[in-house]
Amino acid sequence: MNSPDKRLPTDTDDGMLLIISGPSGVGKTTITRGVERSIADAVFSVSWTTRGRTPADVEGVDYHFVTDDEFEAMKARSGFLETAGIYGKKYGTPRDWVVEQIKRGRLVILEIDVQGAIQVKGQMPEAFAMFVLPPTEEELLSRLRDRKREDEDHIQKRFAAARKEISAARTCGVYDVFIVNGTLETAIGEAVEQVRAERQRRRSARRP
Ligand code: 5GP
Repeated sequence: MNSPDKRLPTDTDDGMLLIISGPSGVGKTTITRGVERSIADAVFSVSWTTRGRTPADVEGVDYHFVTDDEFEAMKARSGFLETAGIYGKKYGTPRDWVVEQIKRGRLVILEIDVQGAIQVKGQMPEAFAMFVLPPTEEELLSRLRDRKREDEDHIQKRFAAARKEISAARTCGVYDVFIVNGTLETAIGEAVEQVRAERQRRRSARRP
């Protein structure tokens, strides 16, 4: 592996950290993957989690699935940029990988919750943070029901958590842009446009 300090011919000064958050059911994972596919140098940060792997999850692609001991050992050596507890499970962003990819000039995408975004912005205020909103709360509830993953009781719990997450996102002052996911294609297009415009602004600011 290359040392983080050694500059490669492909490295640029264009590195940017992009945070994408949003309540569950809003379509944020699809939007995140859409942004990743649309921007040539985008890389997705694979979080560590202690939650169980579902049949839809791929190890090393969606998450690194680890034990509680492995998670705590990584945390003890300050290996996480941020961590969060969600529904009793732990999630964390690996620090070294993220820092190295930004140095290489890439667009590094973190799909994390509001508590994580607040921690990241505290350490890296230059991170660009995006929050995905549903068109309406009713629409979010009906999308949660349509996933047919859980019973009504769990759906109501997720819906209540989603409302709290939206309200925290609006008041925490961390998010640079809010994107409404009416249709996926439009929302992905808007997210990509926002990222390109922000990188262009930063490039212009670097070259007076
Ligand atoms: P899920 O278990 O459904 O994949 O994810 C639950 C929530 O955890 C989502 O809101 C997701 O964005 C968030 N999440 C995933 N990885 C991380 C992480 O590394 N840090 C934080 N703070 N949140 C994460």
